[in-house]
Amino acid sequence: MTSLVPARHVYVHVPFCARRCSYCDFAIAVRRTVPVAEYGDALRGELAIRFDDAPEAAHALDTVYLGGGTPSRLGGDGIANALDAVRERFPLAPGAEVTIEANPDDVTPNAARAWRDAGVNRISLGSQSFDPEVLRWMHRTHDVAQIGRAVDAVRGAGIANVSLDLIFAVPTAMHRDWERDLGHALALEPAHLSLYGLTIEPGTPLGRWHARGAVAEADEDRYADEFLRAHDAMGAAGFEHYEVSNFARPGLRSRHNSSYWRGVPYIGLGPAAHGFDGVTRRWNVASYVDWTRRVAERCDPRAGEEQLTPADRIAEQVYLGLRTTDGLALERGEEARVGRWIDEGWATLDAGRLRLTAAGWLRLDALAADLTVVRSL
Ligand code: SF4
Repeated sequence: MTSLVPARHVYVHVPFCARRCSYCDFAIAVRRTVPVAEYGDALRGELAIRFDDAPEAAHALDTVYLGGGTPSRLGGDGIANALDAVRERFPLAPGAEVTIEANPDDVTPNAARAWRDAGVNRISLGSQSFDPEVLRWMHRTHDVAQIGRAVDAVRGAGIANVSLDLIFAVPTAMHRDWERDLGHALALEPAHLSLYGLTIEPGTPLGRWHARGAVAEADEDRYADEFLRAHDAMGAAGFEHYEVSNFARPGLRSRHNSSYWRGVPYIGLGPAAHGFDGVTRRWNVASYVDWTRRVAERCDPRAGEEQLTPADRIAEQVYLGLRTTDGLALERGEEARVGRWIDEGWATLDAGRLRLTAAGWLRLDALAADLTVVRSL
């Protein structure tokens, strides 16, 4: 992959999970015992196959993100090994953001210290809920108490930049108290919070429960109500709602994820990982077994690639612009088209820049599609 602009961001997919959560359709590998050494070797193998002669190797990285799956299942040595593999190819820029996703039950004081020593300076913790019943229903492997203990362990190791994930719009039958969950999350004083609305995907346990009528998804009103309540509560607590699903204390936005929303090049490593060089997207084979086999055969583990058409680029520019508070510069003649958005309270227009409000983000897909049509004429 030759970037037009050098990629300064690397995503590494670590697919291992102890079991599949009820709602999850990610590319994961359920393993009781994680093949830590095999994974590290395969990661080095992919880097060698793709970058031995590539000019990207000379460019320092601004961010590295280990996502999954559950990267914390690699433990202290496994994370250090994976980060070493990346650093052997790409030097890290001073102050680079190095994030790992972690499940609370994997975070011990020893593991947190090992991650810090390996260069990790940001942890994204999959907390999801502070309601024991909801955690059980989600098939999460952690309990409520482990969330607080994990935050303490990470802070005790000197990693202050902690993000929490929460899932909202769970089925009404769960009687989940969303404001109470938000309060618990805020009490842990995270630097950052990511909120995801529950979606029911076919092929997941939740999808099967739904198909046989055992569970009903939250309706649109409930989804909107919880989203807007989170927006208000997080704003009152001093967080910036800077992207449709993300909130940060001042100066603590996710730099890695922001690179996706700015549409800049990034490298994806590991099974199912996607990459983008500014023109072409590529993605790796999704299965962990296929990925290790391809790498062992000295083959690029790419499963496919696509070049963005001019129409794709317009759609993406509009969608990415509207999903963050950076907004989108309007082009000539578009102000009339968005007049109603502003009248309805879905957007603001300032010096030619259009920004969606929280109410607008609830209609993100429809509004982005509307403006994309105009730009494509
Ligand atoms: S821990 Fe994350 S990646 Fe693993 S099964 Fe659960 S939701 Fe999916």
